Amino acid sequence: MFVEKVYIIVVMYIDLFLCISFYGPIWSYDDESAWPGGFCKKGGKRQSPINIQTNNVIKDFDRQFIKHGSLKFIGYENVLSSGLNNGHTIQFSTEGYTDMHPTITGGPLKYTYRLEQLHFHWLSEHSIDGVKFPMEIHFVHVRKDLNISEALNKRDGLAILAVFCNVQPDLNENQREASDEIMQHIPLLMRTGRRFSGAILNLRKLLSPKKNSYFSYLGSLTSPECNEVVVWIIFDNPIYISDDLYRLFGKVGIGRHNFRSQQKIKHHQVYQPPDAFITTPKAVIVVKDVYKHVTQFFQNITRQVRSTS
Ligand SMILES: [Zn+2]
Repeated sequence: MFVEKVYIIVVMYIDLFLCISFYGPIWSYDDESAWPGGFCKKGGKRQSPINIQTNNVIKDFDRQFIKHGSLKFIGYENVLSSGLNNGHTIQFSTEGYTDMHPTITGGPLKYTYRLEQLHFHWLSEHSIDGVKFPMEIHFVHVRKDLNISEALNKRDGLAILAVFCNVQPDLNENQREASDEIMQHIPLLMRTGRRFSGAILNLRKLLSPKKNSYFSYLGSLTSPECNEVVVWIIFDNPIYISDDLYRLFGKVGIGRHNFRSQQKIKHHQVYQPPDAFITTPKAVIVVKDVYKHVTQFFQNITRQVRSTS
């Protein structure tokens, strides 16, 4: 009995802070001014989501922020999961021993983070140069050496991967992978409070095809209590979902939409890994050099021709 009570309190606590409330909504996307939590009301210095202005992004050749090489995803293939409609979104949470949960490390992450849950926002919360996507999936990870309450008090306590989704009626076999993986589960979660457990999901199919091309910055949760504890990793290459699946999400009973309004840029600094840029600048340099050599060659020839004539 005691264990059960403790379990419920823990679940409520986790749910409250990770985008959901256990017994239905106590806050709503229709009135953000009434959200609980000081950060949500007053706003902090690094609130999320934001519009990512690509000409203000630092390409991190000097490894100021992205210091830990390429991102490493471990154990995303067969993930024991439960599904829930919490009144704000549809969420899949990892089940079983935390040691078995998928983990991520590398890139901007100094520590290893374990996957706790993923959920969906439609439309997207972040945008790139003012452009939003039809959907954004958030993979919420907790720093492996911390429990959730500790993580919610550390500026890098959580790592959230954001994957944008484009919608297309006709998808090829590769593009269909994401929709095929979750399509069967969504109809079970159409109403608030609906849940199921014991699904095995291949979450790799929901990750971006280019896993080392992303934007990263220190920001906040995009739902109460908006704690500024998140290392955001936002992939710029979207996955595809089918028209059918997107329409189904449109019918999920959670209200009109489920994205927080975009926040003012204050202490945010967005970085991009250098790897994606290594080839382009080199290519440009080579072309420029060739151009310079060719120009010089012709100038010399011209001079020679002039001097001999
Ligand atoms: Zn979210």
